[in-house]
Amino acid sequence: MKSCPKCQSNMIIDIVYGFPSEELAEDANNNRVQLGGCCVGGNDSKFKCKSCGKEFGGSDDNSYDWVR
Ligand SMILES: [Zn+2]
Repeated sequence: MKSCPKCQSNMIIDIVYGFPSEELAEDANNNRVQLGGCCVGGNDSKFKCKSCGKEFGGSDDNSYDWVR
């Protein structure tokens, strides 16, 4: 189970990059995923905490090897 590195909440959602499909847009509206936008940068977080808003799991985040 994933948990937030900041507040230990397990209400973690995926951050999805790229143009969202209709299904994905609906998931975003229901707060099941976070849309990361179309532009993918060098250090994109993969998860977001719904409790505190912390984004984590980016490529330079060594404490989260399990995302790879
Ligand atoms: Zn949190």
